[in-house]
Amino acid sequence: MEILNDLKISKLLAIFAHPDDAEAACGGTLAKYSALGVEVNLLIVALGDKGRGELSDREFELNQSAKILGISNVDSLGYKDGEFDNDLTLRKKLTEKIRLFKPGIVICPDPTAVFFSHSYINHRDHRQTGWAVLDVVSSAVSNEKYFSTSVAHEVSHLLCAGTLEPNCVVDVTETIDKKIQAVLSYKSQISGDPEKFSNSLMGTSAGIGRQVGISHAEAFRYSSLSNSDSQI
Ligand SMILES: [Zn+2]
Repeated sequence: MEILNDLKISKLLAIFAHPDDAEAACGGTLAKYSALGVEVNLLIVALGDKGRGELSDREFELNQSAKILGISNVDSLGYKDGEFDNDLTLRKKLTEKIRLFKPGIVICPDPTAVFFSHSYINHRDHRQTGWAVLDVVSSAVSNEKYFSTSVAHEVSHLLCAGTLEPNCVVDVTETIDKKIQAVLSYKSQISGDPEKFSNSLMGTSAGIGRQVGISHAEAFRYSSLSNSDSQI
């Protein structure tokens, strides 16, 4: 596995299913790019209405977390949890948002990851979101013949988080503390001891880091979307 060099881009867009997905999946990477001066944006597909607590709590927590990570804009497509598919409507909405934000990097869930060990089956919303993003960044977004009401844009790099087949890591040693703070800001979503949860997150990033000789890392499946600009 390789350590991904800092990608030379000015804008990043993370697209995830629910309000608290991005922080745990790639919060260290989002904080790192924000600290590098990149405009970091977050698009959430669903409201998180079927999670714990009240929607108003999640909205407050999301804004707290975005401040901690240095996220410039948080946007939502407003679907209800479990009530969207990777269909033409979703692909059109995603295409228009990506063209609006004009990111050099898109980060999304890896939709091919289904069974995590014997204890977790990846949520359908995560997989639907991941497939829809893959479908549009690989074709529609950069081709003006698709959804011609908005101007085409070329995304250079795709990072899939929550993957079972990582091919690179991002060094998040400098921003792991921000990631933990951001994840813990979702108080309504944490049922157990926050300290145990934070230790478990720390342990995961330290374990990934050990594989490449650094303190803390997040793992991704990287794809170059412009062949001339591949980073691994
Ligand atoms: Zn989720």
